[in-house]
Amino acid sequence: MNKKIEFPYYIKEVIRKLEGAGFEAYVVGGCVRDLLLSSEPKDWDIATNGKPEELLKIFPDGKYENDFGTVMLPLKYIEGVEEKDWNGPNVEITTYRIESKYSDKRHPDKVKFAKTLEEDLSRRDFTVNAMAIEIKNQESRNKKQTNFEIIDLFDGQEDLKNKKIRAVGEAEERFDEDALRMMRAIRFSVQLGFKIDKKTFEAIKKNAKNLKYVSIERIRDEFDKIILSKNPAQGVEILVETKLIDYFIPEILGTIGVKQNRHHYFGPYNTVYAHLLASLEKCPSEKLEVRLASFLHDIGKPKSKRGTGEMATFYSHEYIGAKMVEKILERMKYPRKTIEKTVMLVKNHMFYYNVDEVGESGVRRVVQKVGVENIADLIDVRIADRLGSGVAKAVPYKLRHFKFMVEKVSHDAISVKQLKINGNDLMQDLKIQPGPKIGAILDVLLAQVIDDQTLNEKEKLLGLAKDLDKKDLAELRAFAKQKIEEEKKEEEKLMKKKYWVE
Ligand code: ATP
Ligand code: MG
Repeated sequence: MNKKIEFPYYIKEVIRKLEGAGFEAYVVGGCVRDLLLSSEPKDWDIATNGKPEELLKIFPDGKYENDFGTVMLPLKYIEGVEEKDWNGPNVEITTYRIESKYSDKRHPDKVKFAKTLEEDLSRRDFTVNAMAIEIKNQESRNKKQTNFEIIDLFDGQEDLKNKKIRAVGEAEERFDEDALRMMRAIRFSVQLGFKIDKKTFEAIKKNAKNLKYVSIERIRDEFDKIILSKNPAQGVEILVETKLIDYFIPEILGTIGVKQNRHHYFGPYNTVYAHLLASLEKCPSEKLEVRLASFLHDIGKPKSKRGTGEMATFYSHEYIGAKMVEKILERMKYPRKTIEKTVMLVKNHMFYYNVDEVGESGVRRVVQKVGVENIADLIDVRIADRLGSGVAKAVPYKLRHFKFMVEKVSHDAISVKQLKINGNDLMQDLKIQPGPKIGAILDVLLAQVIDDQTLNEKEKLLGLAKDLDKKDLAELRAFAKQKIEEEKKEEEKLMKKKYWVE
């Protein structure tokens, strides 16, 4: 492979400084792979025989806050880097290391520094990640065209050409040292569109059970990269085939072979599992929550299935599913915000909309439930769901019209805060005593306003409140509850008509 590569001037500067101080310095790891694939490296890794404390003497502003011998060098601390470039990729300088024993299969017992580049390259996970670049002779560094040499001890270039993910050395040993590498193999394979080499793949199947020793956070970070990649469904399929998924989302196994009902009884995606994979694959969004929700939206179907064959039903699968998703994501220690949003998307993915059938108040209720800021994401889940069912059009007239309606009602009142009166008005104008009755009256008023926005005027609301004040608290609560029940019934009626749950 003889490629033209342009190295940023600051990388050349860092290497010049390290060599000037008498150390070796090579560009290594993922960024060599990216450069050879002509894609922009996300960060720059430099390997050296200098020890962290020696590196800090050369780069006193570098940050050394980890156990791996890595000194992080923010661009703004490198000589000659202009302010406009400060937000560029990270530069990380790592002292040569070798693999020391991982007696618990989680962490190396301790970081062992190595003497040579060869040792450092051989502890790396995959051949395509285990190459180095030596930047040649001083004077060429000042020119745009830099001379360089690729150091490739494990045929990484050949594997790049053949699009192969292959472990460095004995795959089984490497996965035994660090079980996370199995997740990483799948991650790189779907990110790069590469195949996992046969021997490496067999070694994953054999060692999958060791994933239980890896912390869930590390597993989750790799899983996120799989889900957000260009080939997320293929990634899940490999996770299932290798049984790695058993250690973090075993629930997905329950969807395999579960037939859909008559709406999708035939066709390519006629099991819940096939439908979930197809929905994930077709998900139009690159947001993690939307990808997760598209993947898991029907995870509650196996538990809610009643009957068999074409006439089976899946009532309430979205609520059962939302509970299951919450459990899964909590187990995987996702941040609270990610959990809440994904659960909300799953819970509401069945929202019903039909032009001429659901009016503005119905749309307002959907917006009230999910929040106006989440509507676009909910629609994306629905698009994924539709495409994953094998129907032709992603955004049918119905969904476009729904968007239009959301726009139309987006300034309407859907929460107590948006009512044109508040508790103080009730106390001052109607002399109602502070207490729970105030809240109950406001709840009833909101229900009425969601039905009919023209009521949201101070005078009208005060008039209505005056009548409501004659009722006692229990009555008011019953009234509010009845309103909610009515809404629920209405929703259920609509839901039953919905073509894919009947
Ligand atoms: P990305 O573009 O996602 O950052 P990357 O290849 O740079 O991909 P990193 O996780 O940043 O991946 O790791 C940098 C390099 O360190 C890898 O290319 C690989 O050589 C090595 N490496 C990282 N994690 C491991 C591991 N668990 N076992 C062996 N080598 C690893
Ligand atoms: Mg990296």
